[in-house]
Amino acid sequence: MIPISFEYFPPKTAEQNIVLNETHRRLTRLQPEYCSVTYGAGGSTVNHTERSVMDIHHAAEIPVAPHISCLGGAMNDLKSMLNRYQDAGINRLVALRGDMPSGMAVAGELRWANELVSFIRQETGDHFHIAVACYPEIHPEAETANRDLDFFKQKVDAGANEAITQFFFNADAYFRFLDDCQVRNIDIPIVPGIMPIINFSRLSRFASMCGAEMPRWLRLRLRDFGDDRDSIRDFGIDFVTDLCQRLIDGGAPSLHFYTINRSLATLKICKRLGLGPALKTTAAQG
Ligand code: FAD
Repeated sequence: MIPISFEYFPPKTAEQNIVLNETHRRLTRLQPEYCSVTYGAGGSTVNHTERSVMDIHHAAEIPVAPHISCLGGAMNDLKSMLNRYQDAGINRLVALRGDMPSGMAVAGELRWANELVSFIRQETGDHFHIAVACYPEIHPEAETANRDLDFFKQKVDAGANEAITQFFFNADAYFRFLDDCQVRNIDIPIVPGIMPIINFSRLSRFASMCGAEMPRWLRLRLRDFGDDRDSIRDFGIDFVTDLCQRLIDGGAPSLHFYTINRSLATLKICKRLGLGPALKTTAAQG
């Protein structure tokens, strides 16, 4: 059974907090390797991230990995944040450049994620296990696919321990990416980022923003369901389970689920794949 991990975004309201707590409680039963909490650009969710991270960490059920980005402010702010995480006993991070919300133009002192990884290593040595982002379907701002891979290699050389991919719906893009990495002697684990399909219009918007390709047939099938959310979710569970199975069969080291703070689709996909102790019991029973 391969390891799994879950990604959450930090809640901003009391209601969102209740939803996240319930989601985390349910998903923790699957005994994930860790969960991570995303980081907003320009200070928008920075405090929320740290608060959620500390809450999860103090509950001490599973390790938590804060996301941290170049847009987190001046290097002194980043350094203080790293110190707080280190002092609290957190030892995983997901290090990113981050995306500016539209309308905001001020970047941090560090420009690219490889600089952030170097900075973390310089300030905290080997304390943190650092994951970085990578893009089997190529980052939307990349000049060329090769340049994108070269820049990915810089993050690895700066000290990243593993990479999590942007979500994708085409398994071949992932396998091709692994081949390209091998040619460049990139030998860290490359973990597929899995996006359960829950809301078609939101997913479609998000996919075009981050350069994730939705196959035409998939888009059309999902559009046919209209407002029938249950059918979209059921179809999505079938589709994403098949995708995950292909990735597992092809040797993916683990799976990282973008949960959007919801548990149902992720739980069903994991159960169908036999990931997590609950299904192990059922399978053993027959
Ligand atoms: P980089 O690796 O710095 O790359 C960004 C772009 O610049 C690429 O096109 C690359 O080819 C190019 N590039 C890199 N280095 C150089 C260089 N030296 N010179 C010129 N060009 C260069 N965003 C958030 O705001 N918060 C989050 O919590 C968050 N979590 C994420 C988690 C995962 C697993 C993933 C895949 C993405 C996440 N993102 C998050 C989105 C991410 O911040 C964006 O995709 C962002 O646009 C790029 O981040 P990066 O770390 O890959 O940047």
